[in-house]
Amino acid sequence: MSDEVGFIGLGRMGAPMARNVAAAGFRLVLRDESDEAARRVAADTDGRIAAAPSDFAGCGVVVTMLPTSAVVAKALLEWEGGLPQHLPDGAVVVDMSSSVPHDTVALGARLAEHGVALVDAPVSGGVPGAVAGTLSIMMGADDPAAAERAQPVVDAMSARTYRTGGLGTGHAVKALNNFIAASTFVACGEALIAAERFGLDKATLVDVLNTSTGRSFVSSEVLGEHVVDGKFASGFSLPLMTKDVGIALDLLRETGTAAGAGERVHAALAEALEHLGDVDHTRAVEYWASLGR
Ligand code: NAD
Repeated sequence: MSDEVGFIGLGRMGAPMARNVAAAGFRLVLRDESDEAARRVAADTDGRIAAAPSDFAGCGVVVTMLPTSAVVAKALLEWEGGLPQHLPDGAVVVDMSSSVPHDTVALGARLAEHGVALVDAPVSGGVPGAVAGTLSIMMGADDPAAAERAQPVVDAMSARTYRTGGLGTGHAVKALNNFIAASTFVACGEALIAAERFGLDKATLVDVLNTSTGRSFVSSEVLGEHVVDGKFASGFSLPLMTKDVGIALDLLRETGTAAGAGERVHAALAEALEHLGDVDHTRAVEYWASLGR
């Protein structure tokens, strides 16, 4: 199979991930609805910008790194008549976005009509992990051979791939992981606000958390730099975090799980989103701090 890899979605995560795929020796065919985003990655990877779906004809693997399931389906099936019919026999689409598990299964059936396999391989590790090529990957696939064909490309972006089961299971694991991370974020935000109102030093609270049982990715990578120091540039947007908790909440509900924490965390994020719009998720703490006075 050719060493050309298609990469669709070159935003905060997709751009550094694509750069690592190029650094591993694959030739890239690039697509983003923002010409500027595609040009930036093409400039430092020697990648070719796709002008039409037929430009992906040499790609045995096509990666998608897009905001939502709906956008993934649109980019693959609706852009100028659709991509799958142009891909070579045995091609694999690897959806690395944080998508809805049931939508992934439905998309897999659509792609299979054209002999194209779908693998879900969402990522964890944020923009720093994407830049360093150290993302954790949770990979779901119905066809182990398709997963094997995707693996060398995925390895260019990751430190570790977990095989989670059939198609859609990677997306389910990702949603549950982000539910936990988002719950921690909401709890940390509330603790910081209470600390300040109680007259405590917020930086000291974060220092204590990071050597105590409250320690987490949020406390060590997000809270100090982006909330206390006011950088508000974690690279993970509030709409995307809210979307992920919504996916997890649906999963909790459809499995009959008592979802009190899921409902509260989703409501806190959704309310902040309604007031703040498309901002870095860390800004939500500023919004919550404006309440309850
Ligand atoms: P982003 O908004 O920065 O990038 C999305 C890119 O997709 C943009 O460049 C946009 O122009 C492009 N796009 C939108 N619609 C398109 C279309 N129809 N065709 C082609 N391109 C299109 O988002 P991101 O932060 O890179 O996140 C991408 C995915 O990764 C999301 O599913 C997100 O939940 C997930 N994720 C994000 C992070 C993070 O820290 N940012 C971490 C892990 C997973």
